[in-house]
This record gives sequence, structure tokens and C-alpha cells, in this order.
Amino acid sequence: MTASFYPPERTLMGPGPSDLNPRVLAALSRPTIGHLDPEFIRMMDEVKSLLQYAFQSKNAVTFPVSAPGSAGMECCFVNLVEPGDKVIVCQNGVFGGRMKENVERCGGTAIMVLDEWGAPVDPGKAEDALKANPDAKILAFVQAETSTGAESDVKTLVELAHRYDCLTIVDAVTALGGTPVKVDEWGVDAIYSGTQKCLSAPPGIAPVSFGDRAVDAIKARKTKVQSWFLDLQLVLSYWGGEGKRAYHHTAPINQLYALHEALVILQEEGLEAAWARHALNHQALRAGFEAMGLSFVVAEPYRLPQLNAVSVPEGVDEAKVRSAMLCEYSLEIGAGLGTMAGKIWRIGLMGHASNQRNVLLCLGAMDAVLGSMGAPIERGVAVAAANAVYAA
Ligand SMILES: *Cc1c(COP(=O)(O)O)cnc(C)c1O
Repeated sequence: MTASFYPPERTLMGPGPSDLNPRVLAALSRPTIGHLDPEFIRMMDEVKSLLQYAFQSKNAVTFPVSAPGSAGMECCFVNLVEPGDKVIVCQNGVFGGRMKENVERCGGTAIMVLDEWGAPVDPGKAEDALKANPDAKILAFVQAETSTGAESDVKTLVELAHRYDCLTIVDAVTALGGTPVKVDEWGVDAIYSGTQKCLSAPPGIAPVSFGDRAVDAIKARKTKVQSWFLDLQLVLSYWGGEGKRAYHHTAPINQLYALHEALVILQEEGLEAAWARHALNHQALRAGFEAMGLSFVVAEPYRLPQLNAVSVPEGVDEAKVRSAMLCEYSLEIGAGLGTMAGKIWRIGLMGHASNQRNVLLCLGAMDAVLGSMGAPIERGVAVAAANAVYAA
């Protein structure tokens, strides 16, 4: 007989998923009800307005896709890109590369604007591509590149795109809840996120929001959306207008309870307070690492507080460090991806996991693990440096 599965208790400080608030875990275990039950529909309407708050948007088409962040990405691309469309994709890490894949699988042409990994998207280069491709329909980019920890300037890039008559698709998977995302103020046309990063809900749901211009472009399509599941016109028969719900697919009921609870917690704290908390804990972690002698990959003005990419010191086996952190401290941190594999650690301070206890635990554990390996670090100073930030 196979026994029940009981996961170990971890502290999740990788690139996602992040730790769940116990209130969110409790919400998951509430009784499952029908997805057309009037009480469930009432909760869905609340999820919609809570997401509008999180996205800072009045967009009527704001709802959670029943699949992970990657499906949120796919939902934006399959609905907006028709065969033959030209899309300018700015890539400065792993996730921009996935946008290119999406464009091509939709039968579109991706014009790539490449920036160095660890740098933000360069608006100058994006403008050159917009000038050189007057027939482009969409400009797509990632706000918070989780593979490197760099943040790009959404407001500037959206303004540019609109000046050249392009729609915008923005990846806010890691941004939402951790750093400002202002969909209406910035004029973003289509945006997607995920639940398991700074919203601290379980993985597997993708909040999306579409503005009027994007909805008009979808309504003007000449071809059918190639994905049945993600076709917005069909999904909205379930998530659309108040009261009238038609069966499209069975919503992940309990996961949506959890998302609802996570968004209620976010609203209680307030977006500005959540952003400030992420910034403070990042400053404390940073002070600790710098005191230790470790350096950050991303230049200061573009650093994400929720995703800290730290260079691995010379001669240190980064995988051994991660495995010691996990085995000895039950603490998960992330590895580098792609060209950064082996060279960096990615330390998340996302959502519920962005707190003083985790910062001090991580610094103390890194100090002990790196010290025991004889790594070239300043020992015994990191925790004090972080505490000085909290005391200031
Ligand atoms: C995590 C992430 C995704 C994908 O989300 P999943 O839930 O893993 O599918 C997409 N974009 C960015 C920037 C991410 O960090």
C-alpha cells in the first residue's frame, strides 16, 4: 500500500512558488461546492473586483485563467496574435524567449529586441524596432524578469508602443503584489500574472486583464483563436457578465477560494504597504549579502525587491550550497537559468515570504553554509547588517 503524502515543511525563498499564508491554506480545505452554485458565483464576482484592485484597473475583462502563469501568457498571445501578425518581443531573460515561441506558434512573426540578461529592456532599442516595423501590431515584454531579477519600465514602453500604434502585452507574473503594477494609469492593453509569486496563493491560476483596445482587436479577428480552452470569447461566457454563467470548464473551485483569500489579505494590507514591505526586506537582505562580500547581478535602479539575483563567489559549487540550505535549514533558494546557470542564486522574497524572519534565516544559513565550505566571505556580519536596516 502506498502511504499518504506529507510534504516536509519548507521556507520557500526561490523564484516561486512562495510560502502561503496559513489563512490561504485553510481556505483550500473548505468544502467544494458546484461551480455554478450561486454562492460560488458570488465569490467569483469578488475575485474579479479584488483582481481589478491588484491590477489597479477598471477593465471589465479581468479574471483568473484556470491554469498557471504560462497559460496566462498563452491566453494573451493566442487571442491577440493572428497568422501573419508582426509582434515586437523585447527579451532580456528566459521569459521573453517564451513570448517568441508563443508568437510563432500563433503563426505570427516575432521581431526580437535583445538586451543583456540582468539589464532592463532598453526603450531606445524598442523604439528603433517600432520605427523599422511600422506594420507591427503588438509590443510585448516582461515587467519583472524572474530569471535575472531586473525590472523594466512599463510606463515608458507602453507610451512608446502607443505612439507607434501598437498594442502591448505585459508579463507581470512576478511583479503583481510585489512592485507597482498600474494597468489603467500606464494604459497597458493586455497583462497576465500568476498566483504563486507575490500573491502567495497556490500555483496553477493566472490572473489576466484586457483593456478596451485589446478587446476591440480580439473582436475584429478574421480567424478563429487556435486554442479552444483559452479563446476569450468562449471563456467569458463563464466569467463574463453578472449572473449569466454558462458551462465552459469546471473551475478549480478550491484553488479559487485560496486566491480569494490571498487577495483579501492583500487588500487588508494595502498595495502600497505591500510594495513598501517588499522594498524594506530587500534592503535588509541586500545589506546582509553586501556585508558578507557578495554582490548583486542587476544594477541598483533596476533591481526587483522580490527576486534577488546574487553572484556565486569564486570557487563555490552553487548546487552544493542550495542542497545544504535545503537539507540543513529546510530553506529553498533558486538556481540560475540559461546563461546564468551555475553563476547566480535567485533568492525570492515574494508575498507572504517577504518578511524579517526569512531574511534573517536566509542570511544566517548562508553565512554558516558558505563559511563551512571555506568560501571567501566575511563571516558573522550579515545578520547584524540586516538588523541595522530594520532598526533604522
Ligand atoms: C513564473 C513565471 C512565468 C510562468 O508562470 P508559471 O506559473 O510557472 O507557468 C511566466 N513569466 C514570468 C516572468 C515568471 O516569473
